Amino acid sequence: MIVIAKDDNDRKMIQEDMEKSGSEYRMIRLYDSYVFISPVGGEGDERLYSKKFRDRSIVEVSDLRIGEGLTVAAGPCSVENEEMILDIARSVKAAGADMIRGGAFKPRTSPYSFQGLAERGIKYLVEAKEETGLPIVTEIMNPEYYRYFDDVDMLQVGSRNAQNFDLLRFLGKQKKPVLLKNGMGNTAKEWLETAEYILSGGNGNVVICYRGVRGIENSTRFTMNVGSIIYAKSETHLPVCADPSHASGRRDFVESMALASVAAGADMLEIEVHNDPDRALSDAEQQITPVDLKRIIGKARALKKVLSQKM
Ligand code: PEP
Ligand code: MN
Repeated sequence: MIVIAKDDNDRKMIQEDMEKSGSEYRMIRLYDSYVFISPVGGEGDERLYSKKFRDRSIVEVSDLRIGEGLTVAAGPCSVENEEMILDIARSVKAAGADMIRGGAFKPRTSPYSFQGLAERGIKYLVEAKEETGLPIVTEIMNPEYYRYFDDVDMLQVGSRNAQNFDLLRFLGKQKKPVLLKNGMGNTAKEWLETAEYILSGGNGNVVICYRGVRGIENSTRFTMNVGSIIYAKSETHLPVCADPSHASGRRDFVESMALASVAAGADMLEIEVHNDPDRALSDAEQQITPVDLKRIIGKARALKKVLSQKM
């Protein structure tokens, strides 16, 4: 159960009541509120992600304000070597991207697939950031690796770890912004519940990212239900990102998936881009070129602008 105090008076009253009744509780500071969390009293239906708590949140990553306009993170599926990530970082910057993405710690389905360069991959991403000024978003798989993420601007939680509750609780205790993918077997409501784990730890810097779910349809790699983006936008104050790359699994579908996501209300796009997609060490089929990225960003920003106009 949660009880939210909007001001200091409220906080004192609730605290006194909790003490008197002898209930177990912990208090966190989230945005401008005090939140009392008690494991007794049932789950209740109040949620910290809910629009009833807050209308809209902006997540600041470096100088970016995610939730205002359209933010684009782009880069390879995996950081493969130093030269490659520097080259792609320059290209995605020139194409209009705001952030560089790239996996260093990779959660691969098969243990025999390329597993990523781990801390060396992060080092190369940091070099790419130093050269281009683009902040980094990259995946964290385990709290133990957090020591390598000092210069990383945003921590990604991948679909395969979306219900790794120990990881979510750990991230709730940090202040760094989190990009939280939906679990591929989760409903949209369950996806929001994973965000609640981070918020209820006291970290309000969460952007939720929809990357499709596994269904019966196999014409695309995953099933991109734009309804889930519409639902998320109506239920939560958190900014919503969409990942058209993993959702489609096909280079030629990424543009339409990206535009459909923006039409559904996405505040951010995360797109896989490679300078030689066919030779990528992971997800070769879905990575696009910087030339494609430039066109998609141009169209997506134009669409976002039209959608924000009052008619
Ligand atoms: C990724 O973005 O690098 C990734 C592995 O995506 P997902 O977790 O959505 O499969
Ligand atoms: Mn990938």
